Amino acid sequence: MKLYIISSGKYGSRIINSLAEMGLASSMVGLEELPEDLPEFIDDFEGYIPKNIPRADLILAVGLFGDINMIVPLIAEKSGAKSVIIPHHDPAQVPPGLQSEIIESAPDVKIVFPKPFCTLEPVGDQFIDEFCQEFGKPEMEIESDGLVKKVTVTRTAPCGSTNYIAEHIEGIPADEVELEAGNKLHNYPCNASMATDPVVGDTILHLAGYQVKETVRRALGFGMKSAVVDHDTCEASECQHECIKHCPQVQIGLDTVTLNENEQAVIDPASCGCCEICIKECPYGSIEMEERKFTIE
Ligand code: SF4
Ligand code: SF4
Repeated sequence: MKLYIISSGKYGSRIINSLAEMGLASSMVGLEELPEDLPEFIDDFEGYIPKNIPRADLILAVGLFGDINMIVPLIAEKSGAKSVIIPHHDPAQVPPGLQSEIIESAPDVKIVFPKPFCTLEPVGDQFIDEFCQEFGKPEMEIESDGLVKKVTVTRTAPCGSTNYIAEHIEGIPADEVELEAGNKLHNYPCNASMATDPVVGDTILHLAGYQVKETVRRALGFGMKSAVVDHDTCEASECQHECIKHCPQVQIGLDTVTLNENEQAVIDPASCGCCEICIKECPYGSIEMEERKFTIE
C-alpha cells in the first residue's frame, strides 16, 4: 500500500513518527507538512497543493484545522488515491459542514473522519481496511489467571498508546485492568483535546479512554462497571430516547445504547464509557451506574 501523509502541528508529527516506528515507514511515498498558523477560512487552495504528488493508494491527513482540509480531496485526485482518512483529535478541526463539503467535492473517493483516530474500524474500503488490519481501534488478547499474565496487541491505536498500555498492565489483578488501562492512556499521554465536542457532547480525550476500556473488557471477557437501565421504569415510548440521543459512544457510531424487543433501552456493558450523561438525561430516572462483574460476550 502506498501511503501519502499531509500533516500539521505536534499531533501530526507524533502520528507520523509513531506509524513509522511501528513499521509503516516503507509504505510512506510522500509527506507534506503544513504550517500550524494557516487562516481558518481560505478562498484559494491551489497555493497549498504540493507540486510533485506521487501515486498513492491512501491519503492520511492529520492535525489540519479548518478550510485547509479542502486540499485533501484535491491531493487524492492528483495522486489517484480513492481512500482518505481524516482523523479528529480536536473538535475544531473539521466541523460537520466542512466534512460534507469535503465529501461532496470527491464523490468517488471513500473519506472517513474517525473521532478520535483510535475509533477507526474497517469500512469496506480496500486500503482503509488494509491500514485497519494493524492500526485503528485497539484490539488485544489477554491471558490471565486472576493476574494479567500476557498481553498481545493485535491492533494498535495509531499513536502507539496500545503497546504502552499493554506493557504496563501485565502483572496487575484482572479486576483492576479496566481502570488501570485508562490511567495508562493518560500517562502515555493521549494528545486528544479536553474541549467538549459539540456534536458528541463529550471530549475527544474521553472518547479515546472509552475505546481502551472496551478493548480490555473484550479481551478479558468481563467489565467491572457500566450504566444499566431499569426496565420497570424505562418509558421509551414517551421519552424520545434521550439516552440514545445523548450517549457519546452512539454519537460516534457505536451500538452502546439500543432498544430491545419491548422498545426499552439496553446498554452494552462492553462499550459503555461510564460517562453518566445518559443518567442525567433520562427523564424517568431509569438509569444507574453499577459496579459489579459484567460478562462480555
Ligand atoms: S454512561 Fe450512558 S451515555 Fe455514557 S457511555 Fe455509558 S451508556 Fe453512553
Ligand atoms: S432509559 Fe430513560 S431516556 Fe432511555 S429510553 Fe428509557 S426512559 Fe428514555
